[in-house]
Amino acid sequence: MSRLRGMRVGDGRSIRRASGAASGETQRVSRLDRRRVFELARPEWLPLLLGTIALVVASAASLSAPALVGRLVDSVTGSGGRAALDRSALILLGVFAISGLAAAFRSYLFTVAGERIVARLRGDLYAAVIRQEIAFFDQRRTGELTNRLASDTTVLQNVVTVNLLTAMRFGLQGMGAIGILLWTSWKLTLVMLAVVPLVAIVAGFYGRILRRGSKDVQDALAASSEVAEETLAGVRTVRAFAREATEIRRYRDAVEESFQLGRHRAKLVAIFTGIMSFAGFGAIAAVLWYGVVMLSEGALGFGQLTSFLLYTFTVAFSIMALSGLWSEFARAAGASERVFELIDRQPTVSTEGRRLGSVQGAVQFDGVGFGYPTRPDSPVLEGFCLSLDPGRVVALVGPSGGGKSTAAALLCRLYDPQQGQILLDGHPYPQLDADWLRQQVGVVSQEPILFATSVRDNIRYGRLDASDAEVQAAALAAHAHAFVCAFPEGYATLVGERGVRLSAGQKQRIAIARALLKDPAILVLDEATSALDAESEHLVQEALERLMEGRTTLVIAHRLSTVKNANRVVVLDAGRVAESGTHEELVAANGLYRRLVERQFQA
Ligand code: ADP
Ligand code: MG
Repeated sequence: MSRLRGMRVGDGRSIRRASGAASGETQRVSRLDRRRVFELARPEWLPLLLGTIALVVASAASLSAPALVGRLVDSVTGSGGRAALDRSALILLGVFAISGLAAAFRSYLFTVAGERIVARLRGDLYAAVIRQEIAFFDQRRTGELTNRLASDTTVLQNVVTVNLLTAMRFGLQGMGAIGILLWTSWKLTLVMLAVVPLVAIVAGFYGRILRRGSKDVQDALAASSEVAEETLAGVRTVRAFAREATEIRRYRDAVEESFQLGRHRAKLVAIFTGIMSFAGFGAIAAVLWYGVVMLSEGALGFGQLTSFLLYTFTVAFSIMALSGLWSEFARAAGASERVFELIDRQPTVSTEGRRLGSVQGAVQFDGVGFGYPTRPDSPVLEGFCLSLDPGRVVALVGPSGGGKSTAAALLCRLYDPQQGQILLDGHPYPQLDADWLRQQVGVVSQEPILFATSVRDNIRYGRLDASDAEVQAAALAAHAHAFVCAFPEGYATLVGERGVRLSAGQKQRIAIARALLKDPAILVLDEATSALDAESEHLVQEALERLMEGRTTLVIAHRLSTVKNANRVVVLDAGRVAESGTHEELVAANGLYRRLVERQFQA
């Protein structure tokens, strides 16, 4: 539940600050990075190009319609008679057929390209996130990250597809219609275009505040999914403390926050829409007024006025549609900034380096000083020195909070120390390939995390190409085979999220089987049996001893027997090595270790 720290909901400022701090940015209003969006769309250039051609065809067809309607109206008064009228109507029908066909192609091509783009974007984003250093995950909440994957990418998808398409379509039609109008009657067109300055000023003004408003809504949304994600994952704790009502309130508060922001945004959008709608219809009214004046002066025919009005409708609706997009693009600006920021983020723990041909398994902590990046001011380890010799067992003991698990995390290179260095067979960690290095280290911790798949897949996580026989052999050695076979579905039994359908002792033995299959040269056991009852502890202990054979082992121990069997005992107190030696030596020294033995182990 440590992830609950620092959480305050229902306080808008804290939400915004939290997300601001998490993304390391100030309160600036984001702009849609057009270059990046373009780069995203580039691989789909072919469908997008074909879609654009279809778009041009459809727009040209619908642009020619008002002119044809004008001719149709004039054919009533003209000399062509009924035959001319029929012909005009048929041509109009044909044009609409072409327009419909092209519209279908345009819609399909753009939508599929958009789906493709967002699928790729999600993949890229996930790949970027999961490669981040562990300290990154100490700072972020899972809910925030899953929200980025699901909701921000969807907003971006709309931008690159539907919105882009709509923008092009109405931009093209609006411009085309204005061109035709200018050509027909520039005077009347200028009357119509009198609304343009109003549109431009309002759009410019609203663009800015809409972008900010949209970003706040997205952030609040992310904050509420964080609450849901966290409490659903920890539902057992919620239930055990009967905190359902509190959590419901907390979630409702978070949702309410995003609702309030959404309502504010809706108000802005509504005013904006109203003004734009007025501008559009105002243009029509102006044309109608001045057109009738021109008609009465004989400067314009009935058909001409009809087609002119229809073109003005086209322009008016284009203005309205484009203004609707304005707020959509504003939404996308915030989303795209966050998505690209995560994609661009480089992990601070580099993974590049060499792989050693063979591993002896000697590890040395050389004057290591370390504090967690989330708490840089409180160092956890200071001047920490420790050497692990190949094939030997070192027990690390000490008061709780002394930094034992932290030393284990550094050994797996989940973090890099700020001072000193850690060496494997004499090679400093940063010179080694991090993936390879982690392959050489196996960890069994107090609370192993299993994935929500089958027992078999969980064990195979240690080595993906292991055969079923190898999986079974590992389970046998880990004392897991018997209980797995007792399940009706055996190795295909699903273990549930985080392994909730297994007991602690069963989970631990699956984790040991997983480590056995990985076959690492170096082993870290972090209080691996402390969560177990005496019965399963005995079974797990046996499994662990089998696992330790022939490996360099760092055992963080809570049992005296484990400590006694170790080749050397190191006592860690407040981030420093307080004592080091064999069990007998340390008991004789009558120091911290002796007190620990008397208090902790003898109980
Ligand atoms: P232990 O010896 O009991 O295993 P730890 O190494 O787990 O002790 O913890 C040492 C100190 O580091 C504690 O004060 C703890 O609060 C702090 N700490 C542990 N994990 C983190 C983390 N992810 N971020 C910040 N501080 C941490
Ligand atoms: Mg610990």
